[in-house]
Amino acid sequence: MAYWNQEIETMDPARLRALQSERLVKLVHYVYENSPFYKKLFDEKGIKPDDIKSIDDIQKLPFTFKKDLRDTYPTGMFCVKNTDLVRIHASSGTTGKPIVVGYTQNDIDNWAESLARGFTSVGLDQDDILQVSYGYGLFTGGLGAHYGSERIGATTIPTSSGNTERQLSLMEDLGVTAVLCTPSYFSYLIEVAEKEGRSLKNNKSLRVGIFGAEPWSESLRHRIEERSGIKAYDVFGTSELSGPLFTECPEQKGMHVWADMFIVEILNPDTMEPVKDGETGELVVTTLLKEALPLIRYRIGDLASVETGVCPCGRTHPRLMRLKGRSDDMIIVRGINVFPGQVESVLMKIPEVSPHFMIIIERNGELDDMTVQVELNDMSSDKVDDYNKLIARISHDLRTVLTLSASIELVNPGTIPRSEGKAKRVIDKRKF
Ligand code: ADP
Ligand code: ZN
Repeated sequence: MAYWNQEIETMDPARLRALQSERLVKLVHYVYENSPFYKKLFDEKGIKPDDIKSIDDIQKLPFTFKKDLRDTYPTGMFCVKNTDLVRIHASSGTTGKPIVVGYTQNDIDNWAESLARGFTSVGLDQDDILQVSYGYGLFTGGLGAHYGSERIGATTIPTSSGNTERQLSLMEDLGVTAVLCTPSYFSYLIEVAEKEGRSLKNNKSLRVGIFGAEPWSESLRHRIEERSGIKAYDVFGTSELSGPLFTECPEQKGMHVWADMFIVEILNPDTMEPVKDGETGELVVTTLLKEALPLIRYRIGDLASVETGVCPCGRTHPRLMRLKGRSDDMIIVRGINVFPGQVESVLMKIPEVSPHFMIIIERNGELDDMTVQVELNDMSSDKVDDYNKLIARISHDLRTVLTLSASIELVNPGTIPRSEGKAKRVIDKRKF
């Protein structure tokens, strides 16, 4: 097992916790002295930096919300002078007004370190060739992955997203060994490659994919691995915390959250009390080392679970399990909570179905109607009965998982719009 930073990655859990305590205490003083926002917040809540003596006191600290970043747009929460910034990014704005985030040189270095650990853990090193097909620009995916790749000394190909045919040619011509992009975009790359008769399965160099920026299911992982012959790993991040940060190790059972840099808490959304190890709740993160935009108990808005305990890979840092989706992604249909990821996980177990689908919610009188447009890999059969059987199977499997009936509409291959970044899975007509 290769490590990028073995001492830290396998640090004794008690020592790691002590390091977190030490860094949290420093952080609390740092934000109080450097951020008018946090000074005001602490004063309002009657909290003094000296009240925080160790990580055991973390629950005394107030939460930070996405709204705080929006209200202080663009740089009102930054803790450094503009002259100390070396880079600015902005979130993709999926859920509203974009958020601006800034970095000092140390912030950029720690971000690259975080990814370097993850990339090394999945067996990548200076001999590898990484194609970064996340978008470059204000979105943190492209440049974040780029710096991580350069940090391990790999050859980095900054294709950014889009221009799918050229992506595929470069991949073959340059002997790319790993690709980074959204899982939905990689599904599209697989599809285009197959259509052109150059299935990724025949590509002998490509062996690793690191996919994230959107929720995806275990079934989609199996589908991707089977159809491309690579190992597919999950990566999580969000602009506010830096960008892509935490990667799965070869165990493929959760993404290691680097505890020397971040404290994760999973809280019951109703009581805001910690849940038990492995239970789902709201993901709350405190950044321990960030200088430009440190965040205290930041409520990202994602539902997640974390497992502590030493991983079979030897790393002692907690693992963030596959995300269900952000709370904003959840749609409530006839009072039942539905995540697009649940639909994906059902569909990806059915071989005739492509990874592209769309959920449409409409209001019919007093009732919500949910339709799932399911794209087939092939619709050339003229046996109506085959299609009816397929519809019955999809309806049944969806009803079992969602406890809700949905109408199924089969559509021709290529009908659902493809995405180069984050896929759009829901059209909710009730809001209009
Ligand atoms: P925006 O919030 O504008 O979409 P970001 O790129 O910062 O911009 O998005 C971060 C969000 O993307 C996370 O909060 C999470 O909801 C989602 N996300 C990122 N990576 C993953 C992943 N591996 N699995 C599930 N969701 C993810
Ligand atoms: Zn591990």
